[in-house]
Amino acid sequence: MTIDLKSFIRDIPNFPKPGIIYRDIAPLLLDPQAFKAATEAMAAPFDGETVDVVAAAEARGFIFAAPLALHLNAGFVPIRKPGKLPFETHSHSYDLEYGSDELHVHIDGVLPGQRVIIVDDLLATGGTMQACCKLLELCQAEILGCSFLIHLAGLKGETKLEPYRVESAVVY
Ligand code: AMP
Repeated sequence: MTIDLKSFIRDIPNFPKPGIIYRDIAPLLLDPQAFKAATEAMAAPFDGETVDVVAAAEARGFIFAAPLALHLNAGFVPIRKPGKLPFETHSHSYDLEYGSDELHVHIDGVLPGQRVIIVDDLLATGGTMQACCKLLELCQAEILGCSFLIHLAGLKGETKLEPYRVESAVVY
């Protein structure tokens, strides 16, 4: 039986601010079959490929990256906000609508030439994933592609991620 993943994603209008439809994955995470189906759908485009590492930025990326890593027989590498990782890091700053943010990865998290997939729950403008890609470029990783549960196609976030492959389980 195929699971309709969209039926487990709840739309919350005007959150966190007016005009935004928040795609709430909490109902999907509550249902083990839907959660498993979502993870499998995110892994499917890379099944059969050699993947060394699945990387993801906190917080919601972690939720999918860990089961995906196990599914693909790969390691998991966390990408985190400043001040969270205890060892030496590579860092990358990026612009937000207001101000800027920074992400870090351990210098020995991904080794040069390792084959990496980067995962997140949702692709909107692509800014977060673009920053993750830049970090992994600093690690000299081979980026196989980016895998999302949800792609908000109208925002054209995939253009920021060129030339990398962008896969998603559900498109709005
Ligand atoms: P962006 O960097 O613009 O692609 O935003 C991606 C990040 O923001 C993801 O990690 C999402 O968790 C979160 N996000 C952005 N827009 C939404 C939305 N409409 N609903 C839920 N989460 C969102």
